[in-house]
Amino acid sequence: MDSLLDRFLRYVRIDTQADETSTTYPSTAKQLTLSRLLADECRAIGLADVTCDEFGIVMATIPGTVAQQTPTIAYVAHVDTSPEYSSAKVNPIVHPNYQGGDLVLPGDPSKVIRVEENPDLKNCHGHTLVTSDGTTLLGADDKSGVSAIMSAAAELIRRKGELKHGPVRVCFTCDEEIGRGTDKLNLKELGADVAYTLDGGGRDEIDSETFSADGAKVTVKGINTHPSVGKGAMVNAIRILSCFLSRLPIARLSPETTDGRDGFIHPYHVEGGVAEASARLILRDFETTHLAEQALLLESIAATLRAEHPRAQITVEVRSQYRNMREGLVKEPRAISKAVQAHKALGRVPKLSIIRGGTDGSLLTAKGLPTPNLSTGEHNPHSPLEWTSLEEMRAATEILVQLAVEWAK
Ligand SMILES: [Zn+2]
Repeated sequence: MDSLLDRFLRYVRIDTQADETSTTYPSTAKQLTLSRLLADECRAIGLADVTCDEFGIVMATIPGTVAQQTPTIAYVAHVDTSPEYSSAKVNPIVHPNYQGGDLVLPGDPSKVIRVEENPDLKNCHGHTLVTSDGTTLLGADDKSGVSAIMSAAAELIRRKGELKHGPVRVCFTCDEEIGRGTDKLNLKELGADVAYTLDGGGRDEIDSETFSADGAKVTVKGINTHPSVGKGAMVNAIRILSCFLSRLPIARLSPETTDGRDGFIHPYHVEGGVAEASARLILRDFETTHLAEQALLLESIAATLRAEHPRAQITVEVRSQYRNMREGLVKEPRAISKAVQAHKALGRVPKLSIIRGGTDGSLLTAKGLPTPNLSTGEHNPHSPLEWTSLEEMRAATEILVQLAVEWAK
């Protein structure tokens, strides 16, 4: 118990912020500091085949304890933290035996974790909570996942004479927060039949679905002239692009008006001038077929505008980003059922949930490695109001130990 907290406090003090403007891998060299430490700790715990490559990807094996052939499972977490908020000099504050009430963060008393905005706090009375001091994020996303995996690995090794399980691969990645988490991950080297990312909120949730996602770019090419002689000559790309954006639905199919299983088209960036202007959009839905309908809608708006502005060139490019992990998980239904059994064996009621976004697991699942996401005690990620609960991290650790046992049954 204490060692889980010690581990977590040690990891969050190491600044591992990712940088999306960087072209190196990992995007920041400081991520390697934690990767190398984790590799050393894996060796110290007694894991086999410990490697840490130049990309900061750590892999190790918890050897199986049973003679029969069992599937190899992998536990995956990321060492980097979000570029959205500073993680320099994280000063973790431990709040033992939380008794309810708002948490005022001492480094910046204007930062208050309020119960009314954090209903999950009501389930954490008596817990040991950890926050930052309010001047940085905490980094429980995903160092709570890293800590849970390390503690589970230590426990599986310590109880190897007693617990029956197959081989478990441990894997720590970099740059998940900037969408590059699986870019350098060699699945052959990982050698797993199924994997779990430990990067979920709260406790006892199994994320089995994510959005399916495409990206789109709308480009308008106009004709620039001096405005004094613009009559009949100028074609203003800004004006035509504005028309395009104004014809997207707002009362439906927008992030501002949808939740649950409803998808959206979201323009998030525009740039340009009279001669050329472009907008970037994301298309999201839980049904991949709906993405095609969204793309058709963009194309039909473009077609109308082409008729209205025959001298402009209007193009819509759509590219695939990731797919709902449900589509890959149907090929290996045990990925979910074993996780459900692990919860039940510990007397817990798991909740199957959906994520309005993607995870590294969606990318891994699309590459052929079925990878649901599990709870690991994260709350308010990417924020100075981030917090975690030691009991929830311990709950995740217990699930990982039991899950290894379930896969050998
Ligand atoms: Zn994360």
